[in-house]
Amino acid sequence: MSDHDPVQGLNEVRAAIRRAASDYDRDPASVTLVAVSKTFPAEDIEPVLAAGQRVFGENYVQEAKTKWPGLRERYADVELHLIGPLQSNKAKEAVALFDAIHTLDRPSLAEALAKEIGKSGRKPRLLVQVNTGEEPQKGGVAPGDIDAFLEACRTTYGLEIEGLMCIPPAEDPPSPHFALLNQIAKRQGLKTLSMGMSADFDEAIQLGATHVRVGSAIFGTRPRNA
Ligand SMILES: *Cc1c(COP(=O)(O)O)cnc(C)c1O
Repeated sequence: MSDHDPVQGLNEVRAAIRRAASDYDRDPASVTLVAVSKTFPAEDIEPVLAAGQRVFGENYVQEAKTKWPGLRERYADVELHLIGPLQSNKAKEAVALFDAIHTLDRPSLAEALAKEIGKSGRKPRLLVQVNTGEEPQKGGVAPGDIDAFLEACRTTYGLEIEGLMCIPPAEDPPSPHFALLNQIAKRQGLKTLSMGMSADFDEAIQLGATHVRVGSAIFGTRPRNA
């Protein structure tokens, strides 16, 4: 463990979320903090659980599988969100492990998830990732394709989609991307907006985020580039 204190980080982020909600006339309970624990070991996560945090985000199926079953034995009411890209051949493990998946972004994955949901009887909440900056290296559906993709999720694959997620380009001001995601969600009647990370969750709350995904502001700088 580093000398960074994740519980202090957690308390600061909680206070900042409450402040932002109050600044923008929102009910603080309408913003869920997803504590992003990727790359951090169970011993760093445990004190954050003990401090009452229950919603966590992980990027990698494999890593989550090694860390979370043990922690869940002690904290059964944990809610685990997958926020990293998902390969279709990991859909089965993802459906088994996660309560929400934020990164549905293509028909092959919709098909794989629908199949595993049907087989397992488990039904993780599903968010579609939108590539608001249209970056070629990034996952997500292009804004121009989102209406057709959502329609295909519902009709072709029989999936219930709860909301949208985005990761704005690192070099852009994030607010126009958050505003675009909000606009698409309104048009589509979707209630959940996963947007905002350590550096920009204030702006995201201003623009309607229901889920902010915060890692380094809680757990400290990540040990490797992940
Ligand atoms: C790592 C990650 C985060 C958390 O980022 P921080 O800047 O550490 O808060 C949020 N969302 C996604 C998709 C991530 O991969």
